[in-house]
Amino acid sequence: MPLDYDQLLELAQLDDELAHLAETFERNVPRRHIQELEVVKKDLVFQLARVQGALGELDEESTELSSEAKLHEGKLRELNASESAGKGVSYRNVEAVVHEIDLIKTRLDEIEFRQLEIMENFEELSGEQEDLSKQIADVDDALKLARSNFEVDQIRFEEERKRLAAQRDPLASVLPADFVDMYDRLRSFKVGRAFAYVDQGNCGGCRVKVSALEISRIKQAVGSSPRELPRCEECDRILLLPSLKSH
Ligand SMILES: [Zn+2]
Repeated sequence: MPLDYDQLLELAQLDDELAHLAETFERNVPRRHIQELEVVKKDLVFQLARVQGALGELDEESTELSSEAKLHEGKLRELNASESAGKGVSYRNVEAVVHEIDLIKTRLDEIEFRQLEIMENFEELSGEQEDLSKQIADVDDALKLARSNFEVDQIRFEEERKRLAAQRDPLASVLPADFVDMYDRLRSFKVGRAFAYVDQGNCGGCRVKVSALEISRIKQAVGSSPRELPRCEECDRILLLPSLKSH
């Protein structure tokens, strides 16, 4: 089958547009924004879990201290009662009771002090918790907006891609099947661009110099099988000369 060079040039141009479209979409601002926001949110959620864990621990410690204090207070009432009732008959016994009362009072003071510390920490952490929750809610709002922007861009991208594909696919379908197989493989290796235009004596794909001999081979290949088309020695792309366009 003779090679229609104009069709190849048109195919190359449409594939170039498709590749450009995909690259632009890859850099899509809302999409990158979503990725950044997701990282921020992950960090905030992690911090919030840490704060909530610490609050839970403080709460548990406070409850334990309260029940310990209750036991001590009960014991203290008992001891005070027995002391005033003069149950401790011997001097030794009274001394032991007084000593025990002192120990309990010291421990109760410690507990009270720790409970105050816990209350302060609790307040501070509760503030942090509130702050983090608010930040997460803000990030969620921003994410929602970025996602809806991204959706709009995605629909636009898909419409444009379909429009280009509708022009491109019929061109590819008239080319020899074995050429199209090779071409599509090359296209996927070369991120969408299997062709390269020779531009001022250089390969447009990799900027390596194309010799005059190669350029004359490109000219000779017009009208022969597409398989005969010269490829760049450096990047393997199919070399095209836009100046060979017939009209
Ligand atoms: Zn090249």
